[in-house]
Amino acid sequence: MPSQFGFQAAACAGLVQLAQSAVPSGDPWYPYSSKHWALDVTNANYICKEGTEQSPIDFPECDSPLVRSEPTITWQTKPAQLANNGHTVQLTPKDDGNSNGKMVYPIAGITKAYTLVQCHFHYGSEHQVGSRQFPFETHCVHTLDGSDQAQRYGVFGAFFTIDNAGGGSSFLAQFEDDLPTKPTRRLRGAGEGVSFNVHGEPLSNVTKRRLAESNVQTSFTSPVNFMKLVDDIKASTGMSFGAPPMQHYWNYDGSFTTPPCTEAVDFYIYMVPVQMTQDQLNKFMVTIDWGNFNAGGGNFRPPQPLKTRSIYGCSMEPPALEDGHWYPYEASNWADAVGLNSHRVCDGGSEQSPIDFAACLKAEDQTAIEISWTSNNAVTMSNNGHTVVINVDKTANGNSVNSGEMTAHGKAYRLLQCHFHWGSEHTVGGIQYPFEVHCVHQKSITLGTEAPHYGVFGQFYEMGDTPNAWLTTLEDKLPSARRLSETSEIQVVAPKLNLFGQPMDRRLAGGGGVEEKMSTFDFKGLYGDNKLSQFWNYGGSFTTPPCTEAVDFYIMMQPAVMTTAQLAKFKVAIGWTTAGGNFRPPQPLGSRVVSGCARIATIVNMMNSQNTNLESSIKQMIEESVSTQMANTLNDEQGAHGSMLIVLVVLGVLMMVVSLAVLGMTIEVVKRKQPAGSSVPAQSVGNGVQGSTCTSHTEAPTEL
Ligand SMILES: [Zn+2]
Ligand SMILES: [Zn+2]
Repeated sequence: MPSQFGFQAAACAGLVQLAQSAVPSGDPWYPYSSKHWALDVTNANYICKEGTEQSPIDFPECDSPLVRSEPTITWQTKPAQLANNGHTVQLTPKDDGNSNGKMVYPIAGITKAYTLVQCHFHYGSEHQVGSRQFPFETHCVHTLDGSDQAQRYGVFGAFFTIDNAGGGSSFLAQFEDDLPTKPTRRLRGAGEGVSFNVHGEPLSNVTKRRLAESNVQTSFTSPVNFMKLVDDIKASTGMSFGAPPMQHYWNYDGSFTTPPCTEAVDFYIYMVPVQMTQDQLNKFMVTIDWGNFNAGGGNFRPPQPLKTRSIYGCSMEPPALEDGHWYPYEASNWADAVGLNSHRVCDGGSEQSPIDFAACLKAEDQTAIEISWTSNNAVTMSNNGHTVVINVDKTANGNSVNSGEMTAHGKAYRLLQCHFHWGSEHTVGGIQYPFEVHCVHQKSITLGTEAPHYGVFGQFYEMGDTPNAWLTTLEDKLPSARRLSETSEIQVVAPKLNLFGQPMDRRLAGGGGVEEKMSTFDFKGLYGDNKLSQFWNYGGSFTTPPCTEAVDFYIMMQPAVMTTAQLAKFKVAIGWTTAGGNFRPPQPLGSRVVSGCARIATIVNMMNSQNTNLESSIKQMIEESVSTQMANTLNDEQGAHGSMLIVLVVLGVLMMVVSLAVLGMTIEVVKRKQPAGSSVPAQSVGNGVQGSTCTSHTEAPTEL
């Protein structure tokens, strides 16, 4: 039927495209198109179109806003680099070993501190107020403090209005006459082979390293007083709400406003706009050059749907946070009641992890994952309240230590840490393994300055008689003796853990030392002889609150083996005994595609496989038995009953083989039934990038 074939081909092409996600073709970013940002542009990501927390947004008009606690802002005066990166002008404090300074927001009893990374500019504004666009908006991007892993960001935003009577913006005046000229080579055209990180820095598409900046950067190196932006807001005469201007701001959860639109940004946008002169605006327009603003041009993304989010600062402060426990998992708890890490995406996100993998009969033979993890650096192991984490010890090794990388599907990720779950978070055919290790990586070269996307290498363990050699190097040094009790665990878990579950304000047990150190540690021992060419790959989220959807998972199909004695030691060290483990159960796959399996173990496939085996094994066993018996019979002097004996033997062997086969299939079927209490979603599985044929299967929950 031609029409059916046509439909399948189209659906199939869509699946493959999704599996490959962002294949850059270098289309221009502006003017904004949700379709192009999802599919076509460099760094394209589906979340740009389908995300639930996209930025910017349109703020409702607010006539009498709340008077909020003023943040503490300590941005340093520093020499800065001024560059046109092809989509905006960016001002980056030079790295001189000292902090760039911070912004600290006390909101609803929680204090969040962020470190300045860079400031950049949009004309016209990206955020709007009452559907009104301002001519200009400045964003100062920060990383959230609490770990060396820049997993969440804070953006300080200010609107600008035109006022030629005053002196204009004192902040902009520091560098407005040093703006980089329009680059001779604009990094915007099709096929230029350039991508950008979240800070707008141009990267080579091949190496993901930052490009030479010579053709987009000025020689400007003067010290910039970043605090003048705050001074400008304080001195604004354009609008007044009564209290000092720094006490009137909106905050909300959003995303980067450029591809890949990662949803990991806390926005703080000031209500009182800064004044700039038309002359100042003109200088930036010439430099940024994305067309004439009055004709609808500019380097801005328009407001995105608010969806279920709340905006705070006009009439409403965020609710006080509760300190709930993480395990056993409850979606509503993670959405609302686990303190600072609570996030609504945990309950109702579209790309949540873990998931249930359909049992795989035949793995695709993929290009093996390349791993260069460190094997001889010192590490620290700590119990952060929800798991045991192994980190490269920066104090012992120096900040420049290279923890190593994982390269999979052409993407390079740098190792951050490995940690443990009992039982497993991912499941296979509805079956949970007793243990799963995750090694978390960041997709970038330079930590803290590039795209906040992550890659997790996962390894299952099954029980056996042989102790796992790699776990043996750890199991007697786990920070178990001094871990907190099960009851205090609940208080510790929130609200002060970051994305990786590490305490943000203090280490657990304040100096009591829940850290254990090892002078050398071989991360590579994790996968041993495992085939790094057979793995499931899909796009998901962190499996702990706030469940940020920015993780590529690579889960090895072949489980490792550990003993019950080893598992017992990890259970003691990790805790959560009363909760039955520190795992989140599988989440709905939704429209995502899992790659890595060439042939799903559907019932039909399994029976075909069994039948094939049955035929060959029966044939072989019968041949062997018959020939043996015939030889015996021929040697038997009493040959009278020989032929009858042969028939009986053949019948007996046949019945035995058939019984074994039926028993085997019954065992498979029983194994595939999902365990009580875990919700395993329907799963559709496509053949992914590497598949030689293009098929897809939809598998119903395993109710057999
Ligand atoms: Zn911006
Ligand atoms: Zn994990």
